[in-house]
Amino acid sequence: MAILIVDDSELSRRYLADMLEEAGHENLLCASSSEMAFAVIGRGLAEAKAPKVDLILLDINLPHKSGIETCRELKADPELADIPVIIISGVEHLEGLQAAFDAGAMDYLTKPPNHVELLARIRSALHLKSEMDQRKEREAELLALNQRLESLNHELEKASTTDSLTGLANRRYFNEFVLREWRRAIRDKTVLAILMIDIDHFKSYNDSKGHLAGDVCLQRVAMALQRPIKRPADLLARYGGEEFVAVLPETGLEGAQQLADDMHKEIRGMALPHQASATADTITVSIGVAVMDPQSKMTVEQVLDKADQALYRAKLAGRNRTAG
Ligand code: GH3
Ligand code: MG
Ligand code: MG
Repeated sequence: MAILIVDDSELSRRYLADMLEEAGHENLLCASSSEMAFAVIGRGLAEAKAPKVDLILLDINLPHKSGIETCRELKADPELADIPVIIISGVEHLEGLQAAFDAGAMDYLTKPPNHVELLARIRSALHLKSEMDQRKEREAELLALNQRLESLNHELEKASTTDSLTGLANRRYFNEFVLREWRRAIRDKTVLAILMIDIDHFKSYNDSKGHLAGDVCLQRVAMALQRPIKRPADLLARYGGEEFVAVLPETGLEGAQQLADDMHKEIRGMALPHQASATADTITVSIGVAVMDPQSKMTVEQVLDKADQALYRAKLAGRNRTAG
């Protein structure tokens, strides 16, 4: 571990350095003034570039800037505050010790320090520093782990509410969303519309083109259905299989039917070939519309059921259309 000796007297620096070297401390740095000490420590340098100093032996009586002031400055710098400081004071300066402790020094020795005393104090200061370093390292590891967990949680949460094939909200998210919007509609006495959307003759699409092509078709239909939805409050979700559902807060029958028309238009515009369809030679959808009037006291299940029945009617009436 590295020890920095700060003393303006060459003799004192030598004395300390010799004693430390003899005791096996190899990594010794020296400075003759406060300014030089900060230069040696590399204040202001990036952590990777600054030499690591684990202990500072600081003469209390330095020219220009005193040891006490230097200590105060060290402790005020978050990058350096953890380096333990042992004040070295001549007996004539002992009255300054209180100020040194107030400035953050951890210990003191009188000049010339006694060999045994010096080494014992240095040992305990270095021990403390190494424990502090380890604790800081563990804290940093914990912090990194926490951040990783948070981001994983975020991803998990997202995954648990998203349909992996289409990227739309999944059934689970839809269930929560529709209930929330239904409650809001009742409370605010506003209307709420539901569109139940089902791809026509999708089984024969899968059968004729294969399951993979069926998946791609589902993705493209999802994007097409999403395109006309402009209001941020609206939600399009995958209801299951080749069925989608849209929740449209504060939307009446007319608005819902308009959106359904726009969806048909988008699907028609895509013109995905589907020769096996009995309805058209491209992919089409059928849409059932239900609107909840807040006075009607319908439950969510009843509104969804109503949309499902409308969808059934659209299918019966020949598909590729909307029924309300
Ligand atoms: P209708 O016009 O009456 O809606 O007929 P349909 O063939 O679309 O309806 P049906 O319910 O008989 O078939 C739905 C098909 O959707 C059956 C199933 O293989 C297919 N399907 C459901 N989910 C997926 C999926 O994630 N990927 C693929 N490729 N196909 C799916
Ligand atoms: Mg279908
Ligand atoms: Mg279906």
